[in-house]
Amino acid sequence: MLRDFEQEIKDLDTRHLRRQLRIAESPSETTMIIKGRRFIAMASNNYLGLANHPAVNRAAINAIEQWGVGAGAARLIAGTMTPHHQLEQNLARFKQVEAALTFGTGYTTNLGLIPALIDRDGLILADRYCHASLIEACRLAKATLRVFHHNDVEHLETLLKKRGTPRPVLVVTEGVFSMDGDLAPLPDLLTLCRQHEATLVIDDAHGTGVMGKNGRGTIEHFGVNPQDVIQMGTLSKAIGTSGGYLAGTASLKEYLINTAKAFIYTTAQPPAIAAAASAAIRVIQHEPARRERLWHNRNALHTALTDMGFHLTNTQSPILPIIVKSPERAVEMSQVLYEAGIYVPAIRPPTVPKGSSRLRLTVSSEHTEEQLENVVQELRKAGTALRVI
Ligand SMILES: *Cc1c(COP(=O)(O)O)cnc(C)c1O
Repeated sequence: MLRDFEQEIKDLDTRHLRRQLRIAESPSETTMIIKGRRFIAMASNNYLGLANHPAVNRAAINAIEQWGVGAGAARLIAGTMTPHHQLEQNLARFKQVEAALTFGTGYTTNLGLIPALIDRDGLILADRYCHASLIEACRLAKATLRVFHHNDVEHLETLLKKRGTPRPVLVVTEGVFSMDGDLAPLPDLLTLCRQHEATLVIDDAHGTGVMGKNGRGTIEHFGVNPQDVIQMGTLSKAIGTSGGYLAGTASLKEYLINTAKAFIYTTAQPPAIAAAASAAIRVIQHEPARRERLWHNRNALHTALTDMGFHLTNTQSPILPIIVKSPERAVEMSQVLYEAGIYVPAIRPPTVPKGSSRLRLTVSSEHTEEQLENVVQELRKAGTALRVI
């Protein structure tokens, strides 16, 4: 017998955990049209406005004219075209590593990468707040999986000491945590990994383009040598397009090409998307002012929110989560803001732990001062009315 889907959905509804799609009737920008009405959007990962940037759009249009829409085949068969090759070279240079390999999405990058790195005799130690794709990837790998408390270096050390017989160990974490916006203590993690001969794997989905002087990511922010870690990331956040990538050694790339099922058994990314991602990386490298605007906006909003008395996570990024605890209250607050013309999603379990439901605001370089002032005003009203502040 199949489940009773209708009953399950009703159950979610009564627990305020039902999720629904909202249809955007406009491109990803700082405003968003829903049901004909325009909202200020505080919800996208389009941190640098590159998802709808003239030079990036132009690169995609030109590439469609030259290469067509579809790649026509998997990468190993006939689907690797010049734009894919160029993108991998651009990514490797940007990330200052020997080689990069792109996948269909960030999600499938993790599914392909983690199981390729370790066998059933190995041990994976993953941060408790790792993204669902990392956790799925760790489960797909046959190695033993243990979870350490979020950003808790001492707990990780305890688990490393308990590993028993010498065996390969992967430590898996994120550069910028997607739901909390805080950073992993990468230098400390790396020191520990060195002491215990473990390999550090970093998912820098939200760090790339955002963190570090040149936007190379969280390891640039901390001054960690890219040669000392294995990094993956996505092309879908600050880079504004779609797809994921591994940044590492040439031999790891070669090995993944030959073994990672999530790379082998799927059609190559559309060539125009690869060309657009290359164009976006060029903008990131040539327009540091975009990142400066992003941080200016982020700092202004962060200060305003804390001054008003909102309870934020320990965020150090443009992800600004306001903790309201219950899913009911998160939905209510999101609804009040929606009525006031501000779109901020409520994030609830199972995406975040129970009792930590939140409003998750994300800031972009393209938000205007006026828009952010409006957001602050409406948050003050909503927070006061609902007694969140
Ligand atoms: C978004 C995200 C992914 C998945 O990337 P997609 O390209 O959207 O599939 C993986 N890891 C983290 C930490 C993310 O935030």
